[in-house]
Amino acid sequence: MTKKQKKALNRIIVSAVCFLIVALLKHLFPEFEGWISFLFLIPYFIVGLEVLEDAWKGIKNGSVFDENFLMAVATIGAVLLGEFQEGVAVMFFYQVGELFQSYAVGKSRQSISDLMDICPEFANVLDEDGNIHEEDPEDVPVGALIIVRPGERIPMDGIVIEGDSNVDTSALTGESKPLHVKLGSEDISGCVNESAAIKIKTTKLYEDSTVARILELVENSSMKKAKVESFITRFSRYYTPAVCYGALFLAIIPSLITSDWKTWILRALTFLVISCPCALVISIPLSFFGGIGGASRSGILVKGGNDLEALSQMSKIVFDKTGTLTEGRFQIVEAVPSEGNSEEHLLWVAALAESYSTHPIGEILRKGYENESRDILHNVQEIAGHGIRAEINGSPVSVGNLKLMRSDGILIEPVDGIGTVVYVTENKNYLGYIRIADAVRTDTYKAIEELKELQVETVVLSGDDSNTVRQVAEGLGIPSYYGELLPVDKVQHVEKLLSEKLSENEKIAFAGDGINDAPVLMRSDIGIAMGAMGSDAAIEAADVVLMDDNLRKIPLAIRISKKCMRIVKENIAFSLLVKALCLVFAAVGYANMWWAVFSDVGVMIIAVINATRMLKPLKIE
Ligand code: ADP
Ligand code: MG
Repeated sequence: MTKKQKKALNRIIVSAVCFLIVALLKHLFPEFEGWISFLFLIPYFIVGLEVLEDAWKGIKNGSVFDENFLMAVATIGAVLLGEFQEGVAVMFFYQVGELFQSYAVGKSRQSISDLMDICPEFANVLDEDGNIHEEDPEDVPVGALIIVRPGERIPMDGIVIEGDSNVDTSALTGESKPLHVKLGSEDISGCVNESAAIKIKTTKLYEDSTVARILELVENSSMKKAKVESFITRFSRYYTPAVCYGALFLAIIPSLITSDWKTWILRALTFLVISCPCALVISIPLSFFGGIGGASRSGILVKGGNDLEALSQMSKIVFDKTGTLTEGRFQIVEAVPSEGNSEEHLLWVAALAESYSTHPIGEILRKGYENESRDILHNVQEIAGHGIRAEINGSPVSVGNLKLMRSDGILIEPVDGIGTVVYVTENKNYLGYIRIADAVRTDTYKAIEELKELQVETVVLSGDDSNTVRQVAEGLGIPSYYGELLPVDKVQHVEKLLSEKLSENEKIAFAGDGINDAPVLMRSDIGIAMGAMGSDAAIEAADVVLMDDNLRKIPLAIRISKKCMRIVKENIAFSLLVKALCLVFAAVGYANMWWAVFSDVGVMIIAVINATRMLKPLKIE
């Protein structure tokens, strides 16, 4: 409990004790009952002063109609009518509810700040003389050498250049199995090193590292409100004044007719207490908060309440192929030079041209050629969905697919077979082709199956040649697939799907690694990016990020969001129903103040407990 909560609890206890003493006195000395009743003002002010002050502040600031106002009017009214005990009780239970609610919100914040623990405090930087300095991660440049000892957190992204160890990635990915890292492994910041010291060469600044980006996303996530959430805010803006005027009406009109002012004013006050909308105002944001927190503990970053809501309405998901359905870790299957050319030269030209590409194809083609001199390489252009054009030693070279060849005006007999084929030309002479293959991720099969069970349609859109796309899609049982698409074609395709939607409550997702598909991630209703493989642009553009690239996290995210929406709906229906019933009872005089307090606080407590169910993370079965 925080200091403030402890204070509130103390006030509640002291006022309860006072209340009991006064009640006892009243019982012992019935002849002074009238005078003793005034003593109830002591527990009333102890527990309620804060509410009265807040109500007064609200009136002064012009935002009159809030819960504090409702409670203040109701209890002051009760006291003025001589119903001291009721007045104290309403205030008392209202404060108990508030305390409970602030505790629950704190708990759910806690689950998010557990995630904040991934924030590294320092980096052990190794200088040229072999000395280690502790530095702020924000001051460490790219290319610095850092040491991470067992038990320490990896402060920034980098590559292991010495050592062999296991790292615990659970805070980031929800995966409890440690990851083995060795020479050449890429290391993700935020993980904890477990077994042995490792030396890392940093590849990113702290602010661009995974850990910093996650923290930023999580911090901003509660800003984007879901539709139901903003609906509730708007709702209470009209609802509360409406209730106040309703109560005024109930106090005046029947009293004028029956001349029984006390009864009707009391009923009106009861009506006010019952209609306090706290259960809704509190429990709904809490459910979303819990849902986002729970998802992030399972390695799924959802950027806002609106995105969590949209996930539950996903009707169709469009996948990029390379790097999303497949690993994006290509292997060279064969390199076939044309007549009169050597395999060596073919591979060398391809490798050099791909020197700066971030595409998975580029990464594999330049493997083994990292130390070649790049002085002879000029004018490198990467053309999305086509390949690379560059100049090597002054001669133009092209490395890419048939589309690129066609736009160069070079006619090549297409090569069939499994995998992606990269064609290479130099000075408009065809040097041959390199066939590379990419394995489907092992989780993909299961993920597609689970999506089908959740009745989400699947589609593949890819820039790769149609033949390869067909093989992959058919292998996965995805009926709808399209190949040879440029990034703009992908956007158009998704736009077409969006325009074919039958209702606003149907959401179309796009999942991609972001290489060539950041625009389409933005355009779709729900952009899902692969966090580990994916590019920074994709993580920026996406609404949902899968930290460990496991596609099974998509059906999991849908389940989390459905659970969250179910809880939200349960809470709305339950609170409105109870309130409506109580309001009717109060209006006809069956419910008194005691009833009102119990229904109000009771509904709130039940709704909040229901909302905290979201904090428990769901797991992949
Ligand atoms: P996907 O939609 O499957 O992720 P991309 O849009 O990333 O595919 O790429 C489409 C195609 O463009 C690739 O299959 C390849 O033929 C060609 N291509 C893209 N970038 C490169 C590159 N750097 N080198 C060679 N070919 C490339
Ligand atoms: Mg891709």
